[in-house]
Amino acid sequence: MTKSMESVEERPKATVIDGRAFAQTLRAEIAVNAASFADRQGRQPGLAVVLVGDDPASHVYVSAKVRQASEAGIASFPHRLDSSTSESELLALIAALNADERVDGILVQLPLPNHIDENMVIEAIDPAKDVDGFHPYNVGRLHAGKPSLVPCTPLGCLLLLQERLGDLSGLKAVIVGRSNIVGKPMAQLLLNAHCTVTVVHSRSRDLPKECRQADILVVAAGRPGMIGADYIKPGATVIDVGINRLEDDAGRARLVGDVDFAAVSPIAGALTPVPGGVGPMTIACLLRNTVSAANSRS
Ligand code: NDP
Repeated sequence: MTKSMESVEERPKATVIDGRAFAQTLRAEIAVNAASFADRQGRQPGLAVVLVGDDPASHVYVSAKVRQASEAGIASFPHRLDSSTSESELLALIAALNADERVDGILVQLPLPNHIDENMVIEAIDPAKDVDGFHPYNVGRLHAGKPSLVPCTPLGCLLLLQERLGDLSGLKAVIVGRSNIVGKPMAQLLLNAHCTVTVVHSRSRDLPKECRQADILVVAAGRPGMIGADYIKPGATVIDVGINRLEDDAGRARLVGDVDFAAVSPIAGALTPVPGGVGPMTIACLLRNTVSAANSRS
């Protein structure tokens, strides 16, 4: 039987990119850098994490961030605020954290309650402490190709891609999604890494055809399993950013990505799983940004 006659079932499966393992290696490096900062400065790098309201997923994320910061030798300053907290109270807290010398990074967990203007809060954070990389100052520097604090999820994707592929120069990258948090900074990072970059979104025409051009496909749409086999160039590296909570008939929750893993695995060269792919890298990059902010401020 020729290779072209092989059924999809007989083709080799894509390499699974183990984000958990890579994030663990990264956290060990960060711990060394945090300890070296503490030796020089007589204090640990500090991360303030601000959570407003009772969104259960946000509580889980914040607890994981605080725990992993502590394990890496980063002092954390958690602020869990009631959902009735006013915008001016939150802005006053941000101003206090900006002035607090023990705090090198400030993370405000999104989404915020509707009565608080997210942009106003993001812009109130000192750009030197903006470890989420969402402040317009850092967005502008990233777009200008200058050193900056870079949003954690796209940074995690970039590190996974570089670990897997080495030099990305000249590769064709397609990104599904154009949010300020993932899609747009991802595009800029890949452009800065000398990829040829296309961004597609809900108004794009013939999405499968666009995606099939990609050596690197990064998917951040928030649509469970939307990327099937017909979106994939054989051998492509596929990064699934999507985190979607689905319930089965018995009411049990499970997490799935935006990529149909079983369908894509026989075509792609490498693929991140959900969970265990991009998610762990996001927190590791938050810790990396905190130590980097601490070093820049010292
Ligand atoms: P947003 O909802 O802000 O953006 C989604 C983007 O996908 C939009 O640009 C939208 O297009 C596009 N899109 C939606 N549906 C389609 C479609 N059918 N075809 C083409 N494009 C589509 O989401 P985020 O960027 O914040 O997050 C995306 C996903 O990543 C979510 O599942 C989220 O949970 C996950 N996530 C995971 C993180 C991690 O740590 N692993 C961190 C952050 C997010 P348009 O602009 O036209 O509306």
